[in-house]
Amino acid sequence: MVDDPPAKTVIDPFGTTVIEDYERLYQEFGIQPFKPLLDQIPDPSAAMRRGVIFGHRDLERVLTAMKNDQEFAVMSGIKPTMEFHLGTLQTAREVIYFQQHGAKAFYCIADVEAYEDNGIPFERSQKYAVGNVADLLALGFDPQKGFIYQQSKETRVKDLAIRFSRGVTLATMKAIYGERHMGLYLSALIQAGDILLPQLEEFGGPKPTVVPVGIDQDPHLRLTRDLAFKFRRKYNFVPPSSTYHKLIKGLDGSPKMSKRNPMTYFTLQESPEVISKKILMSFTGGRPTAEEQRRLGANPDICPIYDLYLFHFFERDEDVAKLYDYECKGGKILCGEDKQRLIRIVTEFVKEHQRKRRQYIDKAKEILNVE
Ligand code: SF4
Repeated sequence: MVDDPPAKTVIDPFGTTVIEDYERLYQEFGIQPFKPLLDQIPDPSAAMRRGVIFGHRDLERVLTAMKNDQEFAVMSGIKPTMEFHLGTLQTAREVIYFQQHGAKAFYCIADVEAYEDNGIPFERSQKYAVGNVADLLALGFDPQKGFIYQQSKETRVKDLAIRFSRGVTLATMKAIYGERHMGLYLSALIQAGDILLPQLEEFGGPKPTVVPVGIDQDPHLRLTRDLAFKFRRKYNFVPPSSTYHKLIKGLDGSPKMSKRNPMTYFTLQESPEVISKKILMSFTGGRPTAEEQRRLGANPDICPIYDLYLFHFFERDEDVAKLYDYECKGGKILCGEDKQRLIRIVTEFVKEHQRKRRQYIDKAKEILNVE
């Protein structure tokens, strides 16, 4: 008997992340499962209830602060290299969730990383940044209870990065990120500055902070937790906590949407017609013929259309469960019909979102201090 080869897991914030088995992350990377905490969360979000958020580090500390009405923060951000897509939508919703549950919210426009990782000049990333902030506001982020900033303009973040650079060696950076050009190491230190910014005296001092991210960002958390410990005497930092969401499948059925292939994703700024076409052309877990599908059912586990409902487009958990067990696996719906239903829901959402977003462009410019 031949054993199966071990599943391949690669977590790389600057490259390709491959997760073949989320369960293995608990043993191999020390990430804690999210599910056992669900009962302690008074009003869990859809992503929490449905297992889209599957792991965390030290979230208990944040939950205790929430329960006892103590100060805590949420911190995350976006690399301004393109319009909002379904991955950045996920993170934004998580930030807004914690803001609406009492957190001071910090949202970073990671334009230094956009430059170092993607070579996008600051003038160009600024255009995306305005749109990204308008998206965030349209989704419900309250700027009165939050702080939105650009890395390249935030001196306090850069000052922290300079100090942190004395706390790491090249060997540590290589161990975490592999062999990279120095700019990426610099941008990782700046991200550590972002994550610990909410704990500076100007923002009320040390406090539990949750960083909701995709699992590909975990190396930044590991580095930052280490730095928080090393610099505890000077700053009294509380080690940051994190939550991890799964990566939504690409529309071609690949494990992750890829910027390099626009047919694997859609953005919230594309026209409903273009989005509809992409959904119609999407891979599914369907059977070759309608007759077989009705008889044998289809496979939602490999289907990006199912992921779209699960992550974003079904509001009610009952509808997700019904699609998975009854409609899809039970062969009660054909993929063509299912896609048409999704197109109707996505079109309605995107039209409404784009309408709201237009109203927030001026506010976004004001926040980012651009003309
Ligand atoms: S019925 Fe829907 S969820 Fe099931 S495989 Fe087809 S498109 Fe995917």
